[in-house]
Amino acid sequence: MAPITDVPTLTPPSRSAVRAYIAIGANLGDAQQQVVTAARDLQRLGAAWVCSSLYRTAPQGASGPDYVNAVVGLDTLLTAPDLLDELQRLELAAGRERPYPNAPRTLDLDIVLYGDARIDSARLQVPHPRMWSRAFVLVPLQEISPTRVDARHLHALADQAIRRI
Ligand code: ADP
Ligand code: MG
Repeated sequence: MAPITDVPTLTPPSRSAVRAYIAIGANLGDAQQQVVTAARDLQRLGAAWVCSSLYRTAPQGASGPDYVNAVVGLDTLLTAPDLLDELQRLELAAGRERPYPNAPRTLDLDIVLYGDARIDSARLQVPHPRMWSRAFVLVPLQEISPTRVDARHLHALADQAIRRI
C-alpha cells in the first residue's frame, strides 16, 4: 500500500475576496469603547481593513442615549451569510440584547454593502435597505469610500445631526 504521504493535497476551490462595508453602532455602556473594540475585532475577518472616524448621532425612531457610529471596510473571503454569523457572534459577545425593535444596544453590526451583491433572503438584505436614509451610515461610508455614496443621497439627509468625535 502506498504511504500516506503520496496522497496528493486537495486544494479547496479558491474564492476571491469581496470588499464589504459594515456599519457599527452602540448607545449603551461605554459606547465609544465598544465601537473601537468592534472595529478592531473586524480586522480578523478580512484584509485591507479601513475604519472611518467615529461619529455621534441621536437615536432614530427611538429614545435613549446618543449613538456612537462608524463604518469599516474590509476585503473578506467569507460569504455574506458567514459574515453575518460572525457579526452576530461579536454582538452577542458584547452583551447585545433585543428586547424590542430599535432598542438601545451595546453593539449593532450591519452589513451595508457586500461588493455589488444584491441579497434578499429571510435573514439578510444587502445593500442594507435603510442605508440611504441614514446619515450615520452614509457620512462615515463617504469618508472611507466616496465613490459608493451618491452626493444627492447625502444632501437629502442634511437635517440629520451628526458630529465627528
Ligand atoms: P436593526 O439592526 O435593524 O436595528 P437587529 O440588529 O436586531 O436590528 O437585526 C435584526 C435582523 O436583521 C438580524 O437578525 C438579521 O438577520 C437581519 N438583517 C437583514 N439584513 C441585514 C444586514 N444587511 N445586516 C445585518 N443584519 C441584517
Ligand atoms: Mg443590526
